[in-house]
Amino acid sequence: MDISFVDLNQQFRRLEPELRRRFDNVFAHGQYVMGPEIMELERELADFVSVRRVIGCASGTDALLMPLMAYEVGPGDAIFTTPFTFIATAEVIALLGATPVFVDIDPQTFNIDPASLARSVERVLAAGTLRPRGIIPVDLFGVPADYDALKPIADQHQLFVLEDAAQSFGAWYHGRRAGSLGDVAATSFFPAKPLGAFGDGGAIFTNDDDFADALGSIRVHGQSGDRYNNVRIGLNARLDTLQAAVVLAKMKVFEDELDTRQRVAARYSERLRDNVRVPHVPEGIVSSWAQYSIVSEHRDDIRSALTSAGIPTAIYYPIPLHLQSVFAHLGHRVGDFPICEEISAKIFSLPLHPYLSDAQIDLICDRIIAAVRV
Ligand SMILES: *Cc1c(COP(=O)(O)O)cnc(C)c1O
Repeated sequence: MDISFVDLNQQFRRLEPELRRRFDNVFAHGQYVMGPEIMELERELADFVSVRRVIGCASGTDALLMPLMAYEVGPGDAIFTTPFTFIATAEVIALLGATPVFVDIDPQTFNIDPASLARSVERVLAAGTLRPRGIIPVDLFGVPADYDALKPIADQHQLFVLEDAAQSFGAWYHGRRAGSLGDVAATSFFPAKPLGAFGDGGAIFTNDDDFADALGSIRVHGQSGDRYNNVRIGLNARLDTLQAAVVLAKMKVFEDELDTRQRVAARYSERLRDNVRVPHVPEGIVSSWAQYSIVSEHRDDIRSALTSAGIPTAIYYPIPLHLQSVFAHLGHRVGDFPICEEISAKIFSLPLHPYLSDAQIDLICDRIIAAVRV
């Protein structure tokens, strides 16, 4: 049985006629940069998430960077985030000369822990060297962070909330879609994400029109209205027209794919819950299942059993960000964020995509159960 971690081939075959039709349209109109597909996609995504404005951009990383630029984040600013995420979340903070302030995670959801955040903000204020400006919660593996608990902390200290929804696009949080849970949100269309392009891409979500206009300007070298009038430092961070066409085609099956991801995850949990720690999805949340990650003392044994059976796995994330050498200057040590460190030593992710069959899921589960029982 050929099992892939993420299967883009089967998805391509399902969508081939629609993708070819959309590509032919782009070849016919020839507007490869900022073509009409960009606006069509931005409108469709805004409806899907129920926000006023969407700004397509070149990657999930740019989708995180651009709002920080619009907030004029810079040296002396503290931005609070989780150490248990992809490097991009903290990289964009450092890129602007600001300081990432890491906060330990919740032991159940692995998302930023609100109580630890509140203490961390107080510590930064007491130290007096950095100015708290914002929070970047990450909706890890597809489960939105605890926004109801984060919001009062943000309000009390006048911090912006930038939702990193790179993994959670399509998820629900108490009746609201991921992408609408902060002051502004970023998502990624990297091919392996729940809603992926066939290359890089991203989008930013906000209900604030002035903020959206600033993001639109940052996307194109800080232009304002006419082309050679530059009013701020920006980027070339446009979403590619062909990638927008791909995402539009995939939007047609996205809800169906989310349902199937849900079914795959439910079958995994049903089969595995007595043998390993399966993902915890809090009440009122529907995950987009970017990853199905399990926690076990026997991680290495299970992974080698799966590898010998030709079943791919991955570790998200083996080195927490506070222990990455790029952030050595922040002076962190092993033991600073014990929950994050413990989870990163025991967690790993199983194949998960909408085209995984029940027989494949059962085979993977049989191997895991056998490996745990040895
Ligand atoms: C993928 C990812 C990003 C970055 O997205 P790119 O499109 O690869 O730049 C940022 N944050 C998280 C949590 C991600 O998983």
